[in-house]
Amino acid sequence: MRYTFRLRPGALAERALTAEWHRCRFLWNEAVHQQKSGSRLAFGKLSKLLTEVRGRDAWLRDGSQVAQQQTLRTYAQALEHSFTLKDRGRPTFKPRKKALPSVEFTRRGFRIRNGRLLLPKGISVPVVWSRELPSDPTSVRITRDALGHWYASFVVRREVPPAADANGVIGIDWGVRCTATTTSSEFDLPYRGHRKRCAAELAREQRKVMRRHRKGRSQSNGYQRARRTAAKLHKKAARQTQYDSRVWAKQVVDSHAMIAIEDFKPAFLSRLTMARKAADAAIGAAKRELIERGMRAGRKVVLVRPAYTTMTCSRCFARAKQPLELAQRTFRCTACGYTEGRDRNAARVILAVAERGHTSADDVRQSDHLPSGGWSGCGPSLKSPALRQGRR
Ligand SMILES: [Zn+2]
Repeated sequence: MRYTFRLRPGALAERALTAEWHRCRFLWNEAVHQQKSGSRLAFGKLSKLLTEVRGRDAWLRDGSQVAQQQTLRTYAQALEHSFTLKDRGRPTFKPRKKALPSVEFTRRGFRIRNGRLLLPKGISVPVVWSRELPSDPTSVRITRDALGHWYASFVVRREVPPAADANGVIGIDWGVRCTATTTSSEFDLPYRGHRKRCAAELAREQRKVMRRHRKGRSQSNGYQRARRTAAKLHKKAARQTQYDSRVWAKQVVDSHAMIAIEDFKPAFLSRLTMARKAADAAIGAAKRELIERGMRAGRKVVLVRPAYTTMTCSRCFARAKQPLELAQRTFRCTACGYTEGRDRNAARVILAVAERGHTSADDVRQSDHLPSGGWSGCGPSLKSPALRQGRR
C-alpha cells in the first residue's frame, strides 16, 4: 500500500529536490532517445551506462545514485510493460517545463529521523505526519503537483483484517446523471451537485487562462494567477470526488460477495465539456476505488463489457433492435413488456452477465459476453442451462 504525506521543504531543500528531479529527467530523456535511435536497453545495461557516465560527469555525480538508478529502473519497467501492450504506452520525453517532478528512493536512499525525511546529499525535509506508518517503508516517491505542493508517498506493508462475510450480489452501471446505478437503489451513487458547480467554476477559470495566454512570449503574472486558481479548483474537485467514491465503495464492498461492474472507459479529452469531463472523472474514481477495495477484501469483482447492456431486457433477455436514444430514460421490452429505468435495467443485465461467469478483474477486458447472435427472444430465466451455455 501507499501512504502519502505532505512535505514542507524549505527553499534550500526545494531547490535541491528540483535539481535532483532535473538530473533524473535528463537520464529518462536520454534513455528515451537511445530507445528511439534503435537500441532497446534493459535495466542492467542502462545501469552500467549510468556508472560510466557518472564517472565523467560532475553534474550527475552531484545527484543521488539511488534516485538516478531508480529512474532507469522505472523506465525499463515502463518500456517492458509497453511491449506487452503491443507498444502502446511507450515511455516518452519529459519536457522541462511541463513534466511534474517525481523522484524515487529505495530503502538505502532515505531515512526517517526526528520526524524529518532524510535524503542523499544532505537533503532534509519536514513531513506532515497526518497518520502513523503501519510498518517500515520500503521505498518513497517524492512528487510535486501543479500547485507546487510536495508529497512523499511511502510504500508500506499493512495487515488487512479479513473482511466480514457478505453474500449479496450487485451489478453496477455507470452514467453521467447518476454516477453509479446499481441493482438495488440504496447503493446508487448520485452525481453530486458540488462537482457540477466546481466544473462550472473550473471552465470559467480555464477560459481565463486561455485568454491570458501569450503565444511565444513569456507569460504574464495574470496568466500565472489564473493558472494557479484553475489548478486549485481542479484539485478541489478531484478531492471531493475521491472522498465520495471511497465512502461509497466501502459500503458496496462491505455488503456484497460479488460485484459486477460495467467496464466503462471514460473518453476524456477532446470535444467534451468541462461538466462532462467532471462526470467522467467521477466514474473513473468510483470504478478504480471499487475494484481496488473489492479485490483487497477478497470479493469476486467482475468487469463486464458494456456492449448491448442498455438494449437488453433484464427479465427475458430479449435484445431490442435499436439502441435506446440517450434521452430515453426508460427501458421498455417489446417482447415481455417489462418496464424499468434505463440504467437500472442495464445494471441488472450486467449482473446477469457476470453471474454466467467468465470475465473478472484478473482477466480483464476480453470476451464480449453478449454474443452477437445470441440473447434474443423471450423465455428462459437467468438460471436456465440454455442461457448458461450461451445457446440463446
Ligand atoms: Zn423482456
